[in-house]
Formats: sequence, C-alpha cells, structure tokens
Amino acid sequence: MKKNMAVYPGTFDPITNGHLDIIERASDLFDKVIVTIALNTNKKPLFTKQERMDMIRKVTGNFKNIEVDSFDGLLVDYAARKNASVIIRGLRAVSDFEYEFQMSLTNRKLAPNITTIFLMPNEKYSYLNSSLVKELAKFKGKTSCFVPDYVREKLERKFK
Ligand code: ADP
Repeated sequence: MKKNMAVYPGTFDPITNGHLDIIERASDLFDKVIVTIALNTNKKPLFTKQERMDMIRKVTGNFKNIEVDSFDGLLVDYAARKNASVIIRGLRAVSDFEYEFQMSLTNRKLAPNITTIFLMPNEKYSYLNSSLVKELAKFKGKTSCFVPDYVREKLERKFK
C-alpha cells in the first residue's frame, strides 16, 4: 500500500550510495518522493545548489516517482506547501539518533499532521556520509564504492 507524498530533506553534498539506498526504499513506499536540498544550514557545501541538484537528478533518473527540489526556511512549512504528510530521514548508527530524535519531535510539535519516518540503509552504508567521501576524494582516495560514477567524476573534477 502506498501513502501519497513524502519529502526527503538533506544537504546531499554530494549524494552518496547511502542516500540512494534510502531513496530506493522510500520510492517503493510512497507515490511520490521529493528529494529536497536544505539551503539554510550552517554547513558550507562543497557543491553549489545547482551542482547538487544536477547530481541527484542524474543518479535518480531511473526512478519514476522522484522529484528534485530545494528549500529555505522551516522544513515543516515546506512539507505542508508540497502537501507531503511524511518526512523521510535515514538512520545510520546510534550517533544519528539524538539529533534526529530532537528534530522529529520538534517538527511534530510544529506540525502534528506530518510524520517523520526513519529508514535504515543496507548495513554496508551504515558508516557512510558525504564528509567521508569528500575527505577521500580530496586526498585522491577511491570513492567508487561509495558514490555513483557520475558523482565520482564530479568529485575528481572538484579536487583536480
Ligand atoms: P543532513 O545535513 O540533513 O544530515 P545529509 O545529506 O547528510 O543531510 O543527510 C540527509 C539524510 O540522509 C539524513 O537523514 C541522513 O541521516 C541520511 N543519510 C546520509 N547518509 C546516509 C547513509 N549512508 N545511510 C542512510 N542514511 C543516510
């Protein structure tokens, strides 16, 4: 049974195989999933918004029900504007839990009709994050097990 619309927010700097694993699971569960770049974070991204959107679009092109977008401001306001009833987040290790717990309960307080759902990736991605991939690429380490080829090429070009 599918339940309409979900948003999957994140920095996606850049999108990794871990994100893709979550996207694939969400795509099976919901009619439509909007993968959306959060712009108002304290993080200083390596890739521009356009570059990140382009990479997400390219590597999710085989999913029929994925849309790519970005937003400023509060996530719950954005989700409401998009008529999404679900926020997707990925849970890797215990280290994600405290922050995610705080965020999801705050969002529930702000918007009780929007539910955060946590999905766990295949365990082979449970230690993977974008910072690790950037660090590897910076020092010319192999990133091919962690990101799709298209993203690997973009990383190599960035650190040339
Ligand atoms: P944020 O800045 O919101 O943490 P990220 O791009 O790092 O943005 O991550 C977006 C979401 O994807 C978060 O819910 C994060 O936990 C999840 N995520 C990131 N990497 C992985 C991974 N390897 N496996 C599962 N979920 C992941």
